[in-house]
Amino acid sequence: MAPSVQLSNGMQMPLLGLGCWQADDGKDVAVAVEAALLAGYRHIDTAYFYANEADVGRGIKAAIATGKVKRSDIFVTTKLPPIGMRPERVEKYLRKSLKALDLDYIDLYLVHHPVGFEEVDENDNMPLENPGTDKEKVKFDFSTDLIAIWKKMENMVELGLAKTIGISNFNPRQMRKIMAIAKIPPTVNQVECHVYFQQKELREACKQHNIAVTAYGPLGSPGRKLFYEKQGKTIELPDLLRNPVVRLVSDKHKRSAAQVLLRFITQEGIIVIPKSTNESRIKQNGDIFSFELDEVDRQALRSLDQGVAGTIFKFAEIFPGYEEHPECFF
Ligand code: NAP
Repeated sequence: MAPSVQLSNGMQMPLLGLGCWQADDGKDVAVAVEAALLAGYRHIDTAYFYANEADVGRGIKAAIATGKVKRSDIFVTTKLPPIGMRPERVEKYLRKSLKALDLDYIDLYLVHHPVGFEEVDENDNMPLENPGTDKEKVKFDFSTDLIAIWKKMENMVELGLAKTIGISNFNPRQMRKIMAIAKIPPTVNQVECHVYFQQKELREACKQHNIAVTAYGPLGSPGRKLFYEKQGKTIELPDLLRNPVVRLVSDKHKRSAAQVLLRFITQEGIIVIPKSTNESRIKQNGDIFSFELDEVDRQALRSLDQGVAGTIFKFAEIFPGYEEHPECFF
């Protein structure tokens, strides 16, 4: 059985899942999801924002059709998009995700981000003003009401559309705001987390509230460089896979740098969702429970933490104008 974490509502969430962001070529995503499920993954992470739920759904269906895996064995996560951040839109977007995925229920429904965007068009996940100019900004919805949204999220569990609900990119203050009113508390907070940004403070706050942590960008999200280059933007990214300490530990265990990065996070009790659309890397990333890092390795990897300075996902750059929103992360 795939190693898992017990959530506060008693559900088991597999420690390893396949991330699907940037897996935007339809054929690749479906093939990757099927390959991951056949390689033993039991957890798939997608989002309305990734615009690939239909392909993810095809991959799940193809794996189930082999008879080797059942729907009930698979933990599927998707997310409420920023354009859906109004209470009256929550059920609409969850139903749209379920329809695209061709599923009756989702295992985990996350609020993707604590900030809302204007809903100009349901297919435009990031509406912009002055696009392509130096005045380009996201059209934010500054009225985001996290409490009203959370009440609707709870309703999704009551309707049987989601088995459990959670949050993503929420800071400790926003978590406390939800915990103070929740009838159904969030079971998971999905945040950026890797050796350079180990999220110590946030992990401590999650522990206090019995909220499990899922790490996104666990390999340092190296594909983002190309993703932004395709949009004519250049970004600087640190290369976690070539860090000398990571390489030393990887040589010691005769495992790849990626396996070391993923094993480190899972040994900290954090769920990981590495993205790959390459079958051999999917298998490699899936094979992380056959070795253990010892305390010396773990201390060496812990020492790579740079705190907030190690952040790779800089929201103010990703979402121009972000810092003006009252629910901005920082
Ligand atoms: P990541 O998993 O850290 O890195 C993915 C990149 O690493 C891809 O370019 C992939 O390329 C490459 N890769 C995968 N396995 C590798 C290996 N063994 N060796 C070398 N390179 C490897 O970054 P991420 O995709 O940004 O994050 C993971 C998932 O978290 C996303 O897919 C998404 O599901 C989720 N996420 C959530 C949020 C949020 O706001 N909640 C934000 C970002 C991401 P190939 O495909 O070519 O293998």
